[in-house]
Amino acid sequence: MIDRSDSSDRGRLDAVRRGLREHGAVVAVFGLSSNLRYLTGFTDEPGERALLLLVAAEGEVWMVVPELYVAEVTAHSPPATVLPWADGDDPMRIVRRIADGLRERTGRVLVDDALWAAFLLPLQAAFGGRAFGLTSDVMTSLRACKATDEVAAMRRAGGIADRALESALSEPIVGLTELQLAGRLEAAMLARGANGIAFETLVASGPNGALPHHRAGARTIEPGDVVILDYGCRVDGYCSDITRTVACGPASPRVEAVHDAVLRAHDAAIERAAIGTPAEAVDRAAREVLTAAGYGPNFVHRTGHGVGLDIHESPYIVEGNRKNLQAGMAFSVEPGAYFAEEFGVRIEDVVVVGENGAVSMTMAPRELRRVD
Ligand code: ZN
Ligand code: ZN
Repeated sequence: MIDRSDSSDRGRLDAVRRGLREHGAVVAVFGLSSNLRYLTGFTDEPGERALLLLVAAEGEVWMVVPELYVAEVTAHSPPATVLPWADGDDPMRIVRRIADGLRERTGRVLVDDALWAAFLLPLQAAFGGRAFGLTSDVMTSLRACKATDEVAAMRRAGGIADRALESALSEPIVGLTELQLAGRLEAAMLARGANGIAFETLVASGPNGALPHHRAGARTIEPGDVVILDYGCRVDGYCSDITRTVACGPASPRVEAVHDAVLRAHDAAIERAAIGTPAEAVDRAAREVLTAAGYGPNFVHRTGHGVGLDIHESPYIVEGNRKNLQAGMAFSVEPGAYFAEEFGVRIEDVVVVGENGAVSMTMAPRELRRVD
């Protein structure tokens, strides 16, 4: 459950209604997604049973709910008209009734970006003739700036990730497979109070480190390997996301030099992150350092992504994103350098922008760490 100390469901729904009116929309339709969790506190894996939240610009809130969820949804949900349907019923009959009731009002229908196509097509039929758009028009700006209670959850998720690293590296990692080390990190996070992992843990050893999105696999970690650990957990729905690079045994001068440049790029980006700075300037700050060090072509991805209830969300820290950073925006800073068939280095922390610059949610030492 979300702690609602300063971001109530009601306040969020009001903000959605205002956004709908600004965007010329009559109603927003959400499925089981991070948006639904943000607005109601209710969450579950999306599935084939339609569970929909409809918010009308003029005020009504309906939840179309499979009967078996009704008790849980009513316990969590904001003031809404709950419309249950039983297995065997057609939930779209309920949606058609709502659509008919809105006939006299003009405006587009906005649908959750993550809504399954299996629900979108019948929705388009039910709201026949209306233009459709995405709820991200309204939700992105609403969710990008985190409230105090959201930042507190992210800080707790970050602290758990920090402590899990200490625990996972306190015993030798050479001889483990990447998957075994990933399992060790994940178990350490769960043992320290995480509600779950934020995404599939990445352990990229030796040449696998050159593939920025390599998942943990069957490769056994060997002496001399450079190993990238990229992982995170959830607390109250909010994610942590951290990357550290370790060396199994003494690192070569080249690995040291690359790690030093990535660390300086990381510093430069965090230093540049402030209220009013364009997102792309943060990307540029990291890229300039790596380019000056001769590793520009090896930094093959954007500098970061927003983090919150979703592991990738707005704002994206990338060239071309000229939007200014605002107080409460939370995003990763994760420069890296990759050398095909050899190794890779990445350092990542999630930061939150505030009056005094960017504050990191994870504190584990960033220096190239020598492990056994
Ligand atoms: Zn990451
Ligand atoms: Zn990340």
